[in-house]
Amino acid sequence: MGSSEYHPLHIFFFPMMAPGHMIPTIDMAKLFAEKGVKATVITTPLNAAFISNVIGKANGIHIQTIEFPCAQAGLPHGCENADSIPSPDMLQPFLLGTRLLQEPFEQLLLNQRPHCVVADMFFPWTTDSAAKFGIPRLVFHGTSFFSLCVLACLGHYDDVSSDSDSFVIPNFPGEIRITRMQAGSLLKSNDITVVSKLVEEARESDLRSYGVVVNSFYELEKVYADHYRKVLGRKAWHVGPLSLCNRNSQEKANRGKEASIDERECLKWLDTKKPDSVVYVCFGSMAKLCDSQLRAIATGLEASGQDFIWVVKKNKQHDGEEWVPDGFEKRMEGKGLIIRGWAPQLLILEHEAIGACVTHCGWNSTLEAVTAGVPMVTWPIAAEQFFNEKLVIEVLQIGVPVGSKIPVELQGDIISWESVEKAVNRVMKGEEATQMRNKAKVFSQLAKGAMQEGGSSYSDLNALIQELSLLSH
Ligand code: UDP
Repeated sequence: MGSSEYHPLHIFFFPMMAPGHMIPTIDMAKLFAEKGVKATVITTPLNAAFISNVIGKANGIHIQTIEFPCAQAGLPHGCENADSIPSPDMLQPFLLGTRLLQEPFEQLLLNQRPHCVVADMFFPWTTDSAAKFGIPRLVFHGTSFFSLCVLACLGHYDDVSSDSDSFVIPNFPGEIRITRMQAGSLLKSNDITVVSKLVEEARESDLRSYGVVVNSFYELEKVYADHYRKVLGRKAWHVGPLSLCNRNSQEKANRGKEASIDERECLKWLDTKKPDSVVYVCFGSMAKLCDSQLRAIATGLEASGQDFIWVVKKNKQHDGEEWVPDGFEKRMEGKGLIIRGWAPQLLILEHEAIGACVTHCGWNSTLEAVTAGVPMVTWPIAAEQFFNEKLVIEVLQIGVPVGSKIPVELQGDIISWESVEKAVNRVMKGEEATQMRNKAKVFSQLAKGAMQEGGSSYSDLNALIQELSLLSH
């Protein structure tokens, strides 16, 4: 089917202002734009400046901005992205503040009349906004089918006694156990918070929306993709792994933000290492680990004897050297590379020297590791990441858990250095490690196949565009 037949479909993409949501949404907009769709990304002025730096001008994506009323939202001036909130307790005001975008968003809909809106799960109100103008809204959660099924299956469930007792997720394929603590705001509770209210609204708005677009591929989680569609009856299209739409090294190097290290320097360092010999450690875009966690990672990595790249997010309290053991950086010269700030993650994961990664199980990072064929040490930080961990460990069997039990928003559980050492060695050495790596490499091939002509995600994307084109006439 030629791309010109799709014209002139116009889609608004409206991501939550946080890197983990903006990055895959921009990838998705690129993918649609490549098929001849007019793709408009709606965001705030500060984020727009950052997106246009990163995507360049050549790929046919339009960016439109709406003012984010920081002052009205009770946030400091210039605070337009969840990764720039000054402290974790500002996360809830930030989420609440995004509601103020409804009116200007509707103004844009009125002026531009796109044929469809792909809006983030954090903006449940967009279903009603779009409906006012007769426009279908698709939801983008930015997570796995597995986690989407958990979200749907836990709705109104409250048959749990204690925080730490585990229970089997009801009406869910397989015997997957989680604890009340891990389910967090997904369970029914008397303690209504901004997040639990949002989750409830998102659940309800999913049901009234046109459908859900998923950054995943069928071969990775068939049982859960089928369960979501056939048993739970949801309309969904899988169009991933979206990261694969970044084909040249420049696109990969600057994805998300400008990297804090010259990517050539980083790749040259990796070129000196043997295949599958380096561990990549990164906790996504938002988490800021505390000193004791960082020391546990440093000590665990050193004790494991493995070479590593470790991404440490800039944090005022880490300006000194007390977050790593004495003389750590000196001793690790040549063995370990520390990136302070933003790493060119896709390029690193794809390098043949990378043998495993330590991840917080954010869905983007998890899927990027799968796509690169890299097994994982899982250290989930907050709720949905605990479900992605279950998928990696229990279903796909391409990872080792570090033992994170308690969700702590933006920071995560405290883990001993011995557990870090043990998990890193288990994922890197021995027969079990080889088996996990071989499995991960099979998934990597399947991921690439899904995005190629005739592959499952390629076909689902075409089917979605075709359906939206028919609706638009
Ligand atoms: N990322 C990156 N460099 C970094 C940190 C993160 O490129 O130093 C990218 C990563 O590749 C992924 C996204 O940022 O695409 C993080 O999303 P994820 O869902 O893994 O976690 P979140 O940041 O939402 O917690």
